Amino acid sequence: MKYDLHNHSYFSDGELSPEALVHAAQEAGIDVLALTDHDTVDGLPRARLAAKAEGVVLVPGVEISSRWERMDIHVLGLGIDTNNATLMAGLHQHQQERVTRAQHVAAKLEKLGFNNIWQEVSASVSSHYIGRPDFARVLVNRGEVKDFQSAFHKYLGEGKLAYVATEWASVPEAVSWIKSAQGLAVLAHPGRYRMTRSKLLRLISCFKEAGGDGLEVLYPAQDADKTRDLAVLAKQFGLLASAGSDFHGLSYPGMKLGMLGELPTHSAALWDSEIWSSCLARIN
Ligand code: AMP
Ligand code: MN
Ligand code: MN
Ligand code: MN
Repeated sequence: MKYDLHNHSYFSDGELSPEALVHAAQEAGIDVLALTDHDTVDGLPRARLAAKAEGVVLVPGVEISSRWERMDIHVLGLGIDTNNATLMAGLHQHQQERVTRAQHVAAKLEKLGFNNIWQEVSASVSSHYIGRPDFARVLVNRGEVKDFQSAFHKYLGEGKLAYVATEWASVPEAVSWIKSAQGLAVLAHPGRYRMTRSKLLRLISCFKEAGGDGLEVLYPAQDADKTRDLAVLAKQFGLLASAGSDFHGLSYPGMKLGMLGELPTHSAALWDSEIWSSCLARIN
């Protein structure tokens, strides 16, 4: 069985529709797919229908933005009940926070001389999501930066010229929303945070104490040493190992569907656990 438990559609910053994502997953040989858009579950009904038609198991998910020690940390909720009022209220709050943040980012960019950036960005987005990738796209289209990455490096990334810190929920809050909705909480891409070793250990410990279930051990563009290290950390903290390609679309380099490989031996895979079985039994 092939699992891919972290993916995006155009309901957040992905390029594909939920249907096209599910189809691409089926073609890549994925049996169990989670759709985990940023702070929204609006793509899930369409993904669920498409998955049924394609013979793929769809895990309803979300990637929640959270704030921990002045850093943005992402927490995946898998197998969530999208009718849960606590989770939905939290996501709604984040969606409003996104609009406010985007207005502040736009104001900073206007000050830097990019006229009418708010008009252009707000006209280009859907009602489900607005985020930094929307600004990056407009800056690329205007020829202000050479590519998407450069937009982050120069303007949108942490501490850069148009960066605006956002008061997302804390890590324990994000986990508690997921738990309210009977989901499993997985710390997303722990190998990608730019922090010291001791800080990473503190983050994982905080996540575990908050009731977190898993660590995203398999992740694209990460060498075998990194994967092994994350597998050891998962074991050390009593967390289950998950796998996600964080697929956003075909033009994002290095993040392809169905290329994750195998978990290191002796890993306790999330999908071999009892909590996973009962979660799947509940959603299907
Ligand atoms: P936001 O949720 O609005 O903070 O935007 C975060 C999203 O932007 C992430 O999920 C990535 O898809 C993308 N992103 C963040 N940092 C970078 C970066 N340095 N280069 C390219 N994309 C990035
Ligand atoms: Mn993204
Ligand atoms: Mn993320
Ligand atoms: Mn993601």
